[in-house]
Amino acid sequence: MSDINSQPINTAWPITDDAIRAVFESMMADGSWGRYHGPHCARLQEELGQMHGVEYVMLCSSGTSAVELALRSVPVSAGDEVILAAYDFKANLINVLTVGATPVLVDVLPGQPVMDLKNLDDAITERTKAIVVSHLHGHFAPIVELRNIAGVRGIAVIEDACQSPGAIIAGQRAGSPGDIGVLSFGGSKLLTSGRGGALLTSNAAMAQRIKLYTQRGNEAYPLSEMQAAVLLPQLQQLDARNAARQIRAVQLANCLSPQSVLKPTLTADEFIPELTRPAFYKFGLILSGQFDSPDREQLSAEARKLGIPLDPALPALHLTHSSRRFRAVGDLINAQNLHTRLMTLHHTALLQSESEIDEMAAALLKLVNSRVS
Ligand SMILES: *Cc1c(COP(=O)(O)O)cnc(C)c1O
Repeated sequence: MSDINSQPINTAWPITDDAIRAVFESMMADGSWGRYHGPHCARLQEELGQMHGVEYVMLCSSGTSAVELALRSVPVSAGDEVILAAYDFKANLINVLTVGATPVLVDVLPGQPVMDLKNLDDAITERTKAIVVSHLHGHFAPIVELRNIAGVRGIAVIEDACQSPGAIIAGQRAGSPGDIGVLSFGGSKLLTSGRGGALLTSNAAMAQRIKLYTQRGNEAYPLSEMQAAVLLPQLQQLDARNAARQIRAVQLANCLSPQSVLKPTLTADEFIPELTRPAFYKFGLILSGQFDSPDREQLSAEARKLGIPLDPALPALHLTHSSRRFRAVGDLINAQNLHTRLMTLHHTALLQSESEIDEMAAALLKLVNSRVS
């Protein structure tokens, strides 16, 4: 295949394989798809608990509701402050507002979608109740360091692992080092049931607050039996798929790193330290200074025409919300840079063959090089 145009890469998601087909067949046979209660949610809770080494697993309706519940579990309430990175998932900021607290935004590391701890001391006040921190685009937030800093000050760390289920950081599964961890089972995520989420903690008081808030004689933020059932086989496949995506991510990083126009946020030699295994929901690519004012929407549209799922990355929170709604610490210049220059490749691109990855890298470089003067 010499022309990527001739045969768009297969980026279909979710993957309906034999394991998923068998789940649907057995649900049809036993009727569990239509019941309030059954064995699937309990089994999912148990398997997630074992996998993450946490005492309590609470299933819920989405990653977004899981972040809200995590904030309530601290508890964070009106008048409190919550620190988060200025480059993060939008719903995390809105959730802080929803519980009545003030988001306090700190910068990310230069060229990386990961919280910089440099300004943390300036961000913390006596009203700081929690820090929400996300592992984004195959990067790890400095979760262990953060927990050490926050722990001695009585601040809870909410670890958003929605983009990195199954990833291993310092020997632990993403979502378990934080005081409470959050997973998403949304329709585009690495584990998917269309919608859904989970909370992971070993803190009994936090788990109890979530139970009190969500159980109202009926479950207020439920995950269904049908959703749990389709997640179970995906949990079995997760490590193998994460490993396959990692191999392709390294390959892609090797293809693109020597170039300056479009650079991976992770270089190949960065992401295999001992005891660390990343998960790629998105793969980050930075447009260099050779683009004065890059048009990410346009590049995305052109890449998608070639069958490559390249998108503008997340908008920076301080540039897309009224400054009355948050407090900024420092100039947030690195988050602003990502807002203009970061693009992400969707994970489905990373389940392609070795030769398809080479062709995709070549097509991407051709595309961006044709755009710089
Ligand atoms: C997707 C996502 C969420 C929210 O998950 P939903 O299940 O879609 O509500 C939260 N945080 C991050 C980092 C995400 O990528």
